[in-house]
Amino acid sequence: GRGPSPGIVAPVTSDTSGPVRLFDTARGAIVPFEPGPVVLMYTCGITPYDATHLGHAAAYTAYDVLQRRLRDLGHETRCVRNVTDVDDSILAKARELGVHYLDLAAAETARFDDDMIALDMLPSFSEPRATSAIADIRGFIGMVLEKGYAYEVAGSVYFDVSKWERFGEISGYDEATMLEYAAERGGFPDDPNKRNKLDFVLWQPSADGEPAWESLWGPGRPGWHIECSALAMRDLGPTLDLHGGGTDLIFPHHECEAAQSEAVTGEPFVRHWMHQAMVRMDGEKMSKSLGNLVFVSDLRQTYDTRAIRLGIVGHHYRDAWEWDDELMPASQDRLERWLAAGEGTGALSEVREALDNDLDTPAAVAAIDAAVDAGLGVSEAAMLLGVDLLATAKPRLSAS
Ligand code: ZN
Repeated sequence: GRGPSPGIVAPVTSDTSGPVRLFDTARGAIVPFEPGPVVLMYTCGITPYDATHLGHAAAYTAYDVLQRRLRDLGHETRCVRNVTDVDDSILAKARELGVHYLDLAAAETARFDDDMIALDMLPSFSEPRATSAIADIRGFIGMVLEKGYAYEVAGSVYFDVSKWERFGEISGYDEATMLEYAAERGGFPDDPNKRNKLDFVLWQPSADGEPAWESLWGPGRPGWHIECSALAMRDLGPTLDLHGGGTDLIFPHHECEAAQSEAVTGEPFVRHWMHQAMVRMDGEKMSKSLGNLVFVSDLRQTYDTRAIRLGIVGHHYRDAWEWDDELMPASQDRLERWLAAGEGTGALSEVREALDNDLDTPAAVAAIDAAVDAGLGVSEAAMLLGVDLLATAKPRLSAS
């Protein structure tokens, strides 16, 4: 029979339409995204040294809505999201606070997980921590060296970009732009040990007081990019259907991940690159380094978490948007209207069509608004946006 058997997802059915069309960063165009029955996805996770802000919530909501639509189409989705629990920023913050970096990481990861659950994010397939995967990372670096794409200098191992002709093909950036971003984003182009300014570190000696692991190249710790390649390969295999992250990760992070992964496996690393734009506040990207943050835990003290989601999906994932104090009250009002409309399939086909059009969540929200105005229940359509109208009221987070 053709019915689904245990562990096998139902085939894509015609009445839900599809395929999803998504913008692919490497191709620079909206293209059909047509994975097999099981969709292998990877999104870069957090560095757990501070609370979850709205930029994180917006990023993971985009991949969550995509997974909901893919599951609606009959796919199984497996999304891996790493936790970077050792890097320059977390070590600096732990030093500043006078705590062990892993205690800081564990506490902030727990807060992040609590926010993700409150926002009804689908569970990840796995959430590996970098420090739990040092053996995998060392093994991966060993393979890059063996293939001749890396070199060792004074206890560090660098990837040699001059040997990788396709370097720059994901971002499409010219060399001057790559150098500018490398300097801005921790790539240290002027490191005198490098053969080429854009070479990037795979392994580095630890500074005094920093954690260090034994390796063939001396005691040290991994570079920034290598953990994602090692973890993606370990948990999902050599080729991902889709890799996500913020636009600020396109270069150098994703360009470097792709180079080292393809150098090792000889196979395509990623079939489709999906990047979400930044949330801004006071005209600047919301970021820890600038301190212009709206924390999810603060919003949770005042608003239903479904309203936070509605505030996010009212914006398209590829449009950078500016935080506005009117957003949450307006989103809470919208949630109340949708809740009053109640159970039903109003706007379901319009929402599916909108999501298939490069995840056009603003159009989906508008379609649901129109159905509500027409007196229809909209619970099924709202669920595709991750807004569960049939759940009991979401308790607010009490201030502690
Ligand atoms: Zn990554």
